[in-house]
Amino acid sequence: VSPEFDLIARYFTRPAPTALLGVGDDCALVQPQSQAALAITTDTLVAGRHFFADVDAASLGHKCLAVNLSDLAAMGATPRWFTLALTVPRIDHAWLAAFAGGLFALAERAGTALVGGDTTAGPLAIGITALGEVPPGLALRRAGARAGDGLWVSGALGEAALAVAVRKGRLAAAAPDWRRLDWPLPRLALGEALRGVASAAIDVSDGLVADLGHICAASGVGAVIDWPSVPLGASLAALPEGLRRDFALAGGDDYELCFAVPAEGEARVADIARRADVPLTRIGQFVEDGGVRVRDAAGRAVELAQGGFDHFRPAT
Ligand SMILES: [Mg+2]
Repeated sequence: VSPEFDLIARYFTRPAPTALLGVGDDCALVQPQSQAALAITTDTLVAGRHFFADVDAASLGHKCLAVNLSDLAAMGATPRWFTLALTVPRIDHAWLAAFAGGLFALAERAGTALVGGDTTAGPLAIGITALGEVPPGLALRRAGARAGDGLWVSGALGEAALAVAVRKGRLAAAAPDWRRLDWPLPRLALGEALRGVASAAIDVSDGLVADLGHICAASGVGAVIDWPSVPLGASLAALPEGLRRDFALAGGDDYELCFAVPAEGEARVADIARRADVPLTRIGQFVEDGGVRVRDAAGRAVELAQGGFDHFRPAT
C-alpha cells in the first residue's frame, strides 16, 4: 500500500450520499439535478501566504473548505460535492486527523461531500474544487447591478483583518474575535435566499472596496459607500477611525456577501435576513459610473490607506 493511498483511505474517505460514486475509483460520479447549472470554483491556500503555517489544523480544514463554499454562496449555489488536493511536508497523523475533522464537520453542516482527492509531499498547501447547483437563470453574477440599485452587505466587516494584525504582532492591545478569522461561516442560506432578488453579488474575501470594485467593473456601474452605515465587527469599536476604515473597507477575509438589490426587491430584504438568520445592512447605492467611492457622514470623500489583499505581496 502506497503512503498516498493510505492517507486518503485513512483520513479522507467518508460516505458521500450525494454522489453516485465517491473517493476510491479513477473518477467520482455525480448526478446533477435535471436542468440545474453546475457552479464550480477552485481556491488554493498556501502556508505562509494565505495562512500561518502553525495555525490550528482543525480550523485550517474548516477554512479551506469555507472559502470555497463562500464562492458558491456568492453565486446563489447549493453546495453538493468537492475535491481536495493536499500537499503536506510530512505525514503527521495528529495533524491530518484534526485537519480532516474540521473539513468534514463543515462539509456535513453544508450538505456537501468529498468525492475525490490527491495527496502529495511538499510545502503545505491545500487546493479545493467545490461544485454546487443553482436553478437555471438564477445564479447571482457580478454583472447585473444597475445605477439606482441599493448596495447591501451581510453581517459585519473588519474582524478578521483585525485578527490578522494582532496575530502578526502589529496591534497588541486589540482583542479580536478569532472565530471570524479561523472559523468563517459561508453565507450559504443567504446566497440561496437572494436568488431572483439580488441583481449582482460577490463574497467579501479581498476587502469590501476591492470586491465591490469587481461588481462595478462587471456591471459597468459605479458605487457609493456611506461609511457611517457600514456594519463593523464589535472588536473594532475601540480602534481609531483610520484603522476601523482600513480593516472594514480594505481588510478582507470577511466572507460576507456584498450584493445589489433593485428598488422592487427592497421590501423582501427584511424577510430574507430573517430566513437566512443574518443581519443585512444597506450601505450605499450603485450609480452611473466613477468606480467605488466612500463618503463620510458629511458627504466628503474618504481616502483609504491601502488596497485589498494582494496575492502577490510577499508574505510577512
Ligand atoms: Mg469570491
